Amino acid sequence: MTEEKIFERDDNNYLPVFKRYKIVLERGDGVYLYDVNGKRYLDFLSGIAVNVLGHNYQPLVEAIANQARKVIHVSNLYYTQPQATAAEKLVRLSGLDRAFFANSGAEANEGAIKIARKFAKKFSPDKTQIISAWDSFHGRTLATLTATGQPKYHKGFEPLPADFDYVHFNDIDELAEKISDKTCAVMLETIQGEGGVYPPREGYLQKVRELCDKHHALLILDEIQSGIGRSGKFFAYEKYGVKPDIVTLAKGLAGGVPIGAFCVTEEVAQAFHAGDHGTTFGGNPLACAAANVVLDTVPDEKFLSHVEEVGNYFKSRLIELQKKYPEQISEVRGEGLILGAQLDKPKRSGVEIVNECMKRGAIINCTVGTVLRFIPPLIITNEHVDELIQILDGVLGG
Ligand SMILES: *Cc1c(COP(=O)(O)O)cnc(C)c1O
Repeated sequence: MTEEKIFERDDNNYLPVFKRYKIVLERGDGVYLYDVNGKRYLDFLSGIAVNVLGHNYQPLVEAIANQARKVIHVSNLYYTQPQATAAEKLVRLSGLDRAFFANSGAEANEGAIKIARKFAKKFSPDKTQIISAWDSFHGRTLATLTATGQPKYHKGFEPLPADFDYVHFNDIDELAEKISDKTCAVMLETIQGEGGVYPPREGYLQKVRELCDKHHALLILDEIQSGIGRSGKFFAYEKYGVKPDIVTLAKGLAGGVPIGAFCVTEEVAQAFHAGDHGTTFGGNPLACAAANVVLDTVPDEKFLSHVEEVGNYFKSRLIELQKKYPEQISEVRGEGLILGAQLDKPKRSGVEIVNECMKRGAIINCTVGTVLRFIPPLIITNEHVDELIQILDGVLGG
């Protein structure tokens, strides 16, 4: 089928909720994607922080194929080895006590909110307030879009679930004012992603942890984007010396196969009994077989130090670009391989820069209209970084 035919078919039939770029991607290999015309793209988005091991990674492909030959799905009425193994790995890595598998990030956060609400009922029926951050992103279900501190995601979907409140990320005084014994949970991304790549300030998350403890509120860290090695640690919270009561994961967890997860302490786990939560697909053997490859690969010390090293190199090269184009890039932010370049008064808009990069064979992303966001596969090398920087340099200078 020709490219034009595919555009037409999709545009005529798919619910028009996505502003798509006009390419049809067909296959991938390593850190490159190929469209139906055979054009190659250097992939610095990895399907929005998903393809952590790159494309066509053989151990992942084989694990999925082998599991598909055995059994794809059986439901959660029965035990399966891939799920038991993946849960054990996640519990050990997180330092928490129990894991649950869902199918997406939104579902992971929805489950986290549910268990937090149920847990808080133990103390008081009106301990229901969930505090999250402005400019956060937590998903598209009714509860998670409400937790998402961006009014544009709320508009038209009212009435929203009750008792959600917002503070500015990194403003500890504002949280100290808002939090009370009625607070059920504080929910934050460890590093804000969609909101423009904002890491927490030094000491911020520790103070959040102290405030939560003081008011017996749970700390939920959403590591759907910042987790799975992206920061240079398996969980970004390890970088900042805090431990949440609940952590949520998705995106990179199964290297591209849909999955979500949350992990909780034993104390929190006790709030849920058989029948309180569930899922048909969540944690099925196919998704968990894929997750097991990621969980055997990414936490390795050598793998994580690679992420840190190539991330540092990438950041230093972005800072060079900032020095070369100070009137276009005002700041470079991020950790490991979640990096952002804040556009100031660029010659081209963020979207135009993304489109121009695409023409020149590189896929990058622009979030909130003014931040170029880089969330590549974790297997990129310095040479790939050089290739991207050369393209960006051409686009910014051209
Ligand atoms: C992507 C994302 C989500 C939502 O994940 P979906 O799989 O799209 O539902 C939630 N939180 C964060 C931080 C994300 O980046």
